[in-house]
Amino acid sequence: MSANYASNHQTPLLQVKNLQTGFKIDGDYFNAVEGVSFNIQRKQIVGVVGESGCGKSVMSLSIMQLLPAGIGKIRGGEIEFEGEAISKLSDKKMNNIRGKDISMIFQEPMTSLNPVFTIGYQIQEVILNHEKISKKEARNRSISLLKSVGIPRADKIVDEYPHQLSGGMRQRVMIAMAIACQPKLLIADEPTTALDVTVQAQILELLKSIQEANDMSIILITHDLGVVAEICDEVLVMYAGKIVERANVEELFNNPKHPYTDLLMKAIPKMDEDVEKLATIDGLVPSITNMPQVGCRFSNRCPKAMPECMTITPQLGEVAAGHEAACLLYDSSWPSGEKRQKEREGASAV
Ligand code: SF4
Repeated sequence: MSANYASNHQTPLLQVKNLQTGFKIDGDYFNAVEGVSFNIQRKQIVGVVGESGCGKSVMSLSIMQLLPAGIGKIRGGEIEFEGEAISKLSDKKMNNIRGKDISMIFQEPMTSLNPVFTIGYQIQEVILNHEKISKKEARNRSISLLKSVGIPRADKIVDEYPHQLSGGMRQRVMIAMAIACQPKLLIADEPTTALDVTVQAQILELLKSIQEANDMSIILITHDLGVVAEICDEVLVMYAGKIVERANVEELFNNPKHPYTDLLMKAIPKMDEDVEKLATIDGLVPSITNMPQVGCRFSNRCPKAMPECMTITPQLGEVAAGHEAACLLYDSSWPSGEKRQKEREGASAV
């Protein structure tokens, strides 16, 4: 990164502008991410939520430029990191950023850790890729990193192989690798999904403490709003490749606006409720080859759908201070939206 950009603390750390990412299927491209825009500020933790197939992971792989070669492609928009456009950088330049300024952890560490190398070797590789230090120094740093993520007997574990560790310990190793070069942005894609509830809470706590200690920003990708409530500052809700709602975490939980968010909330298990009564959302996210071209993409599953939802595409707009949603219920330019707006105004005037 140039000193010019690095010193400009007014610039958001990451700016995603009208991102469109597509996949080639039978010779044609179909967008899995469609016109997504958002900023990540320094030291901020932003949760990205939505069911599988909503474009969350494709969006994060686009930021990292880790889309499958020849199949996935950024087809439009821009991604800026510290003010510098990175979506068209060469592999070599992107390699300098990946692992150093931006790093990523995945859901299942066994797919990211190499089973034939020791834990220590794999952490040292990350460090030696970006820093000119001796192997001994890199090994000592690996041990310190393992200690910092709560691995007991770090000086022994450093010489062990991934299969010798539990799932929770492997995820801690992944976190140690991801923070080895003190990145400014960590993208965590479903980092706790494969773990049991107790370990999940410990990993979230660990991520939060590392974020505070290192002044790092985190994008936390998850299908679980409960995880978001634990550590995020702001939330983006994605559905069928688009952002449908955005607010700070308190506002979103107290005042969800989009019917999709409302249903996701109802699907969060509550301590005092019978799990058999948990709400589910009927139907499926449309596949990328079968995306509605006009109208609201949630219309075939939405309990509040109106006739115009099939023909008018809702745009993301402010529905309360600092709170945005893409839903015609809140768009006063259309008859049903206007009617509901008046009803709301009438209700609040009483
Ligand atoms: Fe439901 Fe219509 Fe709003 Fe879409 S625009 S979420 S279908 S009410």
